[in-house]
Amino acid sequence: MHKLWIADGHCDSLGDLTSGKRDLLGLAGEGHWDLVKACQAGIGLQFFAAYIESEYKPFLAGLRGLEHIEAALRFIDNNPEDVFLVKGQDDLSNLGNSKKIGLVLHIEGGEILGESLFMLDIIYRLGVRSIGLTWNERNALADGVGEVGSQGGLSRFGKQVMKRMNSLGMVIDVSHLNEAGFWDVVAGSVAPIIASHSCARALCDHPRNLSDKQLKALAEVKGLVGVNFCQDFLNETGKATIDDVVRHICYIAEVAGVDCVAFGSDYDGIPSPPLGLEDASKFPHLLEKLKDCGFKDTELTKICHGNFVRVLANVLK
Ligand SMILES: [Zn+2]
Repeated sequence: MHKLWIADGHCDSLGDLTSGKRDLLGLAGEGHWDLVKACQAGIGLQFFAAYIESEYKPFLAGLRGLEHIEAALRFIDNNPEDVFLVKGQDDLSNLGNSKKIGLVLHIEGGEILGESLFMLDIIYRLGVRSIGLTWNERNALADGVGEVGSQGGLSRFGKQVMKRMNSLGMVIDVSHLNEAGFWDVVAGSVAPIIASHSCARALCDHPRNLSDKQLKALAEVKGLVGVNFCQDFLNETGKATIDDVVRHICYIAEVAGVDCVAFGSDYDGIPSPPLGLEDASKFPHLLEKLKDCGFKDTELTKICHGNFVRVLANVLK
């Protein structure tokens, strides 16, 4: 794999796999992300998100989450030449060394846990290594950004989950979490945290984006933000191009430091990607643009994958 291989903090392609809509092998060419496109992009690490769809919440969220996990594990079993599951320190040295993509199994929405810590232990055993505590709504852990006006931080259960994730060695993801919850995680987590797919609020005033204060806090805890390719998060007009992605990356590097910025495409989770980044295969164009911005080689390496590898090295057991 090329020296500047890509780590992507979020894609939602697993949903298509679970529902049988696509096999993600890439032969049909549909969708934003599949093995062919990821290979063209030079992706070596992919956070593979199990998004719990709203119709399953709250009572069937656990069951649906397990269905996603099973689909992901079967995909990994069936494609051992192409992908492997990233579960611990031993797997990190294999990242970027071959054509194989390391998949971090991620759950988008703590609803999967219901109100049971044992469910966290079960999904950990199944290979899940990252959880976004909420999606946009409220759940038993915390309030999402869609709970407008809510000042609610983490619940007691949310704090227990945070503590247990820290001790198991799981990545805590604060994208979609409301601000009060964000600060509770910053204060309470003993390991670095990530915002896997968010952008800068100063450039685009959207509730899913992070303020300068939040970006700096992520830097202080040695975490990171993966810049999201959603047009609504990139540009207030709702129309964005690859240059807007570059703008957010440069801004976050300036405000929070180059150690704090990475990619979190949200491919297959966003309705239509920005012009110039239509699907995962277009990542090399983004690298060209970033080179033109004057980032040094060492800085580009951090943005492309180094920051994500550092966080995993600090969190996983
Ligand atoms: Zn999301």
